[in-house]
Amino acid sequence: MGLIRDKESKRLHIESKLMGESLVSHSFLDSLEIRDQFKIFPEVNVMKIGGQSITDRGGSTLLPIIKEIAENSEREKMVILAGGGTRSRHVYSIALELGMPTGVIAELGSSISTQNALMISTLLGPYGGIQVEQDDIIKLALYIRQGCIPVMEGMPPYGFWEKPPKEGRIPSNRTDIGTFLAADLIGAKNCIYIKDVDGLYTHDPKKDPNVDFIPKVGAKELLDMDLDDMIIERAVLESMLYAQGIDKLQIINGTKYGNITRALRGEHVGTIIYKDV
Ligand code: ADP
Ligand code: MG
Repeated sequence: MGLIRDKESKRLHIESKLMGESLVSHSFLDSLEIRDQFKIFPEVNVMKIGGQSITDRGGSTLLPIIKEIAENSEREKMVILAGGGTRSRHVYSIALELGMPTGVIAELGSSISTQNALMISTLLGPYGGIQVEQDDIIKLALYIRQGCIPVMEGMPPYGFWEKPPKEGRIPSNRTDIGTFLAADLIGAKNCIYIKDVDGLYTHDPKKDPNVDFIPKVGAKELLDMDLDDMIIERAVLESMLYAQGIDKLQIINGTKYGNITRALRGEHVGTIIYKDV
């Protein structure tokens, strides 16, 4: 990038490919040649512990999962993100009744996810669990080299600037997408969602017994299926189409001992959703 002098004003400018562009033009953006995305922490596994599906069930469900994570902590590098769950849903329903804007509702959800991150990091404390802020993500090397398991809230930090959703006013970006974006940002080894069912089905298996299991599916294919209900936020699928740091995620049943260990090894134990465009 050289310096160029404007003939009329005599001002010096820095010449760059983006100079004078609106950064909106389709044809310009398509024509830009960019380097592959740098993977910051390709050895690190990003895992979400479900709020409603895991943490809210208390000791009988969460403690065995903490134990399995601890057992893996010697050989696997992990960052844990916490879901919100039932308390988020409670506060969302009050907030909706009170006419709260989406950005305020997102802030409320964020504080619940932070509560869960505090409990999870406390339980993981003896094995290196440590609660960190989202801005600390760039300092992960520091924590991980010391054998820590960083735990953070799962809500993405859009907060008051959360965009209005297509339907209603519940934020469409919650802890599933927060987890996905964290994994994509660092170029994670695996992105694993620990929930309470074996993975994705054609309908919610808790509400409909006549369901088919979907072991592997493309994000675009799944969006096109337009299932009425899903085990993961739709926003994750939309971002997967454009992701450059990771190209798949896995949803597993963490209530079955051994699944976390196997998923960390890259085995297929639940539903894999992959980038198919
Ligand atoms: P988390 O607390 O991890 O965010 P959620 O409770 O939001 O988990 O989502 C997991 C739940 O989604 C499952 O327990 C299941 O009952 C429900 N669910 C809804 N639709 C589906 C589907 N198509 N396939 C599988 N599970 C589904
Ligand atoms: Mg959820």
